[in-house]
Amino acid sequence: MEKFERLLLAEEAEAESRLAEHREGISEVRAARSDASADDEHDPEGPTMTQEWSQRSAVLADAEHELADVRRALARLAEGSYGVCERCGKAITVARLEARPTATLCIDCARLITH
Ligand SMILES: [Zn+2]
Repeated sequence: MEKFERLLLAEEAEAESRLAEHREGISEVRAARSDASADDEHDPEGPTMTQEWSQRSAVLADAEHELADVRRALARLAEGSYGVCERCGKAITVARLEARPTATLCIDCARLITH
């Protein structure tokens, strides 16, 4: 399982830096947006800003979600329940974990839940 710990730690670092980057981007948009609305509510830049804002928020939410998943997986690794299906208690295959290190369900349960 050491291999997965390395993998997850790398993913955690990656997600953290992505999150920091997006947070920075969001405060820039926020600053630009409040400038624009102070000037004129019907600023032609308005809709574009809003669009960019919601795009960035979505990306940020994704990154936060991913980071939470990775941290949960690391916690499971620490307590020894990593790689065990949360639903049926069977081992999740290594191939599946390699493809998706944050998987908490075996392939059969994941199929049951998503279909
Ligand atoms: Zn299962």
